[in-house]
Amino acid sequence: MKYDVIIAGAGPVGLFLACELALARCAVLVLEKAADPVSPFKQFPFGIRGLSAPTLEALDRRDLLNALDTPQRRAHPFSKEAQAQAPRQAGHFAGIGFNADRIDSTQWPYRLPTSTPTSLMSEMAALEAVLTDRAAQLGVDIKRGQAVTAISQSEDAVTVFTDSAAFGGRWLVGCDGARSAVRKAGRFTFAGTEPSFTGYSIKADLADPSVLAPGRNLTSNGMYFQSQPGFLVMQQFDGGAAHDTGLCTLEHVQAVLRRVSNSNATIAALHTASTWTDRARQATEYRDGRILLAGDAAHIHAPLGGQGLNLGLGDAMNLGWKLAATVHGTAAPGLLDSYQRERHPIGMRVLDWSRAQAVLMTPTPEANALRAIVSDLMQTVDGATYIAGRVWGIGTRLDLGDGHPLDGHSVPNFALDTGATVGELLRDGRALLLDFGGLRSGDALVRGYRGQIRYLAARAHDQLGLGALLIRPDGIVAWACDAGVDTGTLAHVVARYWLPER
Ligand SMILES: Cc1cc2nc3c(=O)[nH]c(=O)nc-3n(C[C@H](O)[C@H](O)[C@H](O)COP(=O)(O)OP(=O)(O)OC[C@H]3O[C@@H](n4cnc5c(N)ncnc54)[C@H](O)[C@@H]3O)c2cc1C
Repeated sequence: MKYDVIIAGAGPVGLFLACELALARCAVLVLEKAADPVSPFKQFPFGIRGLSAPTLEALDRRDLLNALDTPQRRAHPFSKEAQAQAPRQAGHFAGIGFNADRIDSTQWPYRLPTSTPTSLMSEMAALEAVLTDRAAQLGVDIKRGQAVTAISQSEDAVTVFTDSAAFGGRWLVGCDGARSAVRKAGRFTFAGTEPSFTGYSIKADLADPSVLAPGRNLTSNGMYFQSQPGFLVMQQFDGGAAHDTGLCTLEHVQAVLRRVSNSNATIAALHTASTWTDRARQATEYRDGRILLAGDAAHIHAPLGGQGLNLGLGDAMNLGWKLAATVHGTAAPGLLDSYQRERHPIGMRVLDWSRAQAVLMTPTPEANALRAIVSDLMQTVDGATYIAGRVWGIGTRLDLGDGHPLDGHSVPNFALDTGATVGELLRDGRALLLDFGGLRSGDALVRGYRGQIRYLAARAHDQLGLGALLIRPDGIVAWACDAGVDTGTLAHVVARYWLPER
């Protein structure tokens, strides 16, 4: 069979997954519906995406972060006066800003001075370009203008059909976005909640731009956010909730703008418009036999607070090495199913985060009362730190059972006496047994797993009191022990992930 894995969709999640699999020496085909990757919705300002801590760590762990243009902040697009008035917001929850000065980062003990930033911005187009380049370097076959229309699977293979061809592989991953053809063709249930509002992203010439305020504005009828003059995002709560290109006429969009801004704003010309909603749904299972889902194909929710891309890239980082080990026959039984076990609860949490925001943004007296309380709490140090931690994904932890408190966390980016950081050591996509002197016979412990696990005895500037750690290829700590307390459980943990080499 020519391909180990076929991926539907060359969005950021499909491309990143393709890179992960190809890094682990899998033969990968990506089928992409669009003939041309260029779209105004992937470019500044609509295409701007906030990348959170787990994404930045993942990109660093594959040496992709340096290639990406990720400004800390964009230049303020409005006047100097507007810039001076802009609060020093680090992010928002339901449109309520949290202040960088209020965040107490000592509450995040596993972040070190060498950690990658907590959040940066990137253009979707730039991210996709960097991932496409890397995929090409790794030998991924990307075919554009090939929409997946049907699929079939047997016990040991999949066949993927487009209008013009059929492709055979061992596994199929649907990364084909919110309206995933793979999800619809497979035996998946997409369960969740219906939307409460319609969102609009538009680029327009306004007859009198001064009628609308810059930035995010909550009104008694909804919300509008003017990121650049004429680039508007709107939420309308009282016009029904729908995702429909028929709603994108100048007349309709202007009526919505006037309603949500409580103004007489006039659109002189409408250049681009699209709609979105807060529909929140998640596949109940991420796997149906040889077919898996990742990214928006597996879960959708409102883009409030910018979580969807980060969630999807986290799926890809979690799935890639497990699927590759399954392809190569080195995965322990059940490893592939741990993808669902580990990622589904994280997806559920993000959906709830978006639902909570939609409720708080609804222009009703009840929601306004709740908003005032949440807003007060967010001005406190603990409140701002909690919200920032959730928005930036800092506290994210997989449930790997009762072990060391670090188990299931993203590994701190230790700076080692060898001159490397842990992030740099993970770039070959192998697991790492990092011995700070806490193991009795560390090298011998992973003998028989050399293709999967690299052993390194080293010292770090700040070892956080640890004796040793086993770090998975995705940068998650699988096992850790404190200095002088080797619990002797490492061999069992290794056997949970990999089969010994023959
Ligand atoms: C206005 C807005 C702002 C957002 N802001 C943020 C943010 O700041 N941070 C954040 O994390 N997320 C944000 N998101 C969400 C984020 O953009 C998505 O979650 C992310 O793009 C999902 O990536 P994906 O690769 O799973 O899907 P997509 O990006 O949708 O890519 C899917 C790909 O599959 C292709 N495809 C579709 N059907 C087929 C088929 N049948 N066969 C083959 N290919 C197919 C598509 O052409 C596309 O290239 C935002 C979303 C919106 C709408």
